[in-house]
Amino acid sequence: MERVSSEPADSASTDTFDVIVLGAGPAGENAAQYAIAGSDRTAALVEHELVGGECSYWACMPSKALLRPTQVLTTATHMPGVQQHVTTDHVDTPAVLTRRDRFTSGHDDSSQVLWADAAGIDVIRGHAHLTGPRTITVDGDHPRTLRARHAVVIATGTLSTVPDLPGLRAALPWTSRDATNLRQIPRRVLVLGGGVVACETVTWLRQLGADEITVVVRGPRLLARVEPFASDAVAARMHTRDVQVRFGTEVTSVTRPDARDTGIGMIHGGPITAELSDGTTIDVDEVVVATGRRSAVDHLGLDTVGLDTGSITVDDHLTVDGVDGAWLYAVGDINGRAALTHMGKYQARVCGDVIAARAENRPLDDPRYRASADHAQIPQVIFTVPEVAAVGHTVDSARTAGFDIEVLEADIDVAGATLHRDDFTGHAALVVDRATDVPVGATFVGSEVAELVHAATIAIVGKVPLASLWHAVPAYPTISEVWLRLLETRRP
Ligand SMILES: Cc1cc2nc3c(=O)[nH]c(=O)nc-3n(C[C@H](O)[C@H](O)[C@H](O)COP(=O)(O)OP(=O)(O)OC[C@H]3O[C@@H](n4cnc5c(N)ncnc54)[C@H](O)[C@@H]3O)c2cc1C
Repeated sequence: MERVSSEPADSASTDTFDVIVLGAGPAGENAAQYAIAGSDRTAALVEHELVGGECSYWACMPSKALLRPTQVLTTATHMPGVQQHVTTDHVDTPAVLTRRDRFTSGHDDSSQVLWADAAGIDVIRGHAHLTGPRTITVDGDHPRTLRARHAVVIATGTLSTVPDLPGLRAALPWTSRDATNLRQIPRRVLVLGGGVVACETVTWLRQLGADEITVVVRGPRLLARVEPFASDAVAARMHTRDVQVRFGTEVTSVTRPDARDTGIGMIHGGPITAELSDGTTIDVDEVVVATGRRSAVDHLGLDTVGLDTGSITVDDHLTVDGVDGAWLYAVGDINGRAALTHMGKYQARVCGDVIAARAENRPLDDPRYRASADHAQIPQVIFTVPEVAAVGHTVDSARTAGFDIEVLEADIDVAGATLHRDDFTGHAALVVDRATDVPVGATFVGSEVAELVHAATIAIVGKVPLASLWHAVPAYPTISEVWLRLLETRRP
């Protein structure tokens, strides 16, 4: 049984909590909830911006609220009997933005605070930083010092970065916060980066009316971490929508004589001229920077507990490496394992259960106390047109990990797909470990393939051999019948 040093229940001071969580994004909220659920333990959740975090107000929720109408319209414009009634290939922008604002609650976090209250969690407003083992100071008009009896959880997430290129920062380009919370639609846009945020942003900007979009990608393809056939399909669709994608290119300098801080989602001043590494110059109304994010470790006081101030790593119990006593944890984007809301919440569930078990001196030998899915079982959906849904290894990453693999591939041309849309095109690949005959990765690309990924996740996490998958019969006529096509490629 693992024992953990824990502080005696000292004074009745209201500033002593069993668990203190820094950052109230989805990961922090779940860690606090799981750590105290069904017990009389107390928890404080410290937040210096909005309870709900990046996901609720500036990332997942607004971006998917902007993208869903695009998917519906795209399907409708390809459906005989419906397409005749669709008179435009653009969405109704004001209506879409109004719906988006409903999903972000107008940046009012009171419903999330009510949730925390109902879960028995104290919300404390202010910037939190460690001042020593189990000790936190919350800055503000009335600074408070908090002490944790059992655990401190760091869940401070990440921040978008703007590269230090000549003129770029002075031009006040859009980051993902502006793109997801846009109020004006720039007509000519330059997007820096070819990752998920860049590709999803292009998808909604195009549909909302931006008609000259250029994407500058340093590498040779979009979505570098997914199978090439999936990124090729997304690039091909951008091409048909007149989006220019320039691979192997970088911005070398930016000039915007009239840069103005007009607020999030507003065009930040006058036109911009960008010079590119291929020697060309491009004039746009706004630049969107989607080149990456960095850990939110600023002024976190990591040095006060002997940690390097640059990054945080954790073990599978989500306990921070390099700190004695198993009292410090990190969940969500901050630990660098998987920058996705569902993975942060998964880690938070594991972390909360570990804190509860340690507080009650229970053993940690059950698999539920280890965040094993972080290693190579991470599902992700990219809500572009077409969608990309993937879990686990790609062909490349499986080989790099040392697997001897077989790859099963099939076009998605089953009855369910053609019913869904006459001109449905899609492709699927299953990466199978030859030694065990178990799938270790799956990728789907096509219209609305998002829901296919969970079956693949179950097969991979459950280590279901292909011989058993043969008896997992997909319902007719659904897009899931592609599973049958994949397995049929094995028939002699
Ligand atoms: C445009 C975009 C779209 C995305 N879409 C998806 C998607 O569809 N699906 C998906 O799974 N993921 C998506 N993501 C990723 C997702 O947003 C993150 O994985 C998720 O928000 C991480 O949650 P978190 O709790 O770790 O951190 P965050 O959500 O970043 O929350 C951290 C919180 O900590 C607070 N904080 C930071 N430092 C301190 C401090 N010192 N004191 C007090 N408070 C502090 C912050 O204010 C913030 O509220 C998207 C990301 C972007 C940028």
